[in-house]
Amino acid sequence: MKTIGLLGGMSWESTGHYYRLLNEGIKAARGGLHSAPIAMVSVDFDPLARWMQEDDWDAVSRHLCQSAKQVEAAGADFLMLGSNTMHKVADNIAAAIDIPLLHLIDATAEAIKAQGLSSVGLLGTRTTMDDPFYTDRLTTHGLTVHVPMSTAQDRLNRIIFEELCLGRFTDPSRRELLYIMAELEQAGAECIVEGCTEIGMLVEPSHTGQPLFDTTRIHAQAAVRLALDD
Ligand code: GLU
Repeated sequence: MKTIGLLGGMSWESTGHYYRLLNEGIKAARGGLHSAPIAMVSVDFDPLARWMQEDDWDAVSRHLCQSAKQVEAAGADFLMLGSNTMHKVADNIAAAIDIPLLHLIDATAEAIKAQGLSSVGLLGTRTTMDDPFYTDRLTTHGLTVHVPMSTAQDRLNRIIFEELCLGRFTDPSRRELLYIMAELEQAGAECIVEGCTEIGMLVEPSHTGQPLFDTTRIHAQAAVRLALDD
């Protein structure tokens, strides 16, 4: 079995979720006492969040490239970057290491296409929804992407950084997301991409009839398949 490299802490709430999903996936496949071999570096999110607010993506990239090298040095066979937003600097990270990067957006697009869907509503941080790095990557896979209106993006961004990343999962915020998701459906989205690694812990399939693509779960499942593929 390959050793999974996980660069986490963005936020640690979702990294805890990743850790459980990876181990559950290996246990389901191999049974018994099998668990996931993982080399993980979990960063302090505070300076990274500040650099993002200041639009200092060079600082974000330098820090994450350094951390990715630590994951590689710890024996990982491939790297997962445990944040949608941080995939803005994924190309820099992939160039800084000698192991492959398991790209979250590509894994998500493949999962959507496998269901025969082509039009998605994207939820995430403001950077994920507004910066072309994410929507362009989905479009490259042949998908049409709908994003919330600017005011809804602000509300969602606030919920992510002031609640979800701090471990607060509340009913009013879930209702807010469901409202935004309904608007995306009206705009033509056939399904919703939960393009932030904490959102899947707030809105689950039991809360809506809309097809959900939880990027944390999809990314973890892809990592389990790759780890077992030896
Ligand atoms: N975990 C979030 C994501 O998947 C947001 C936090 C971050 O900016 O990394 O985008």
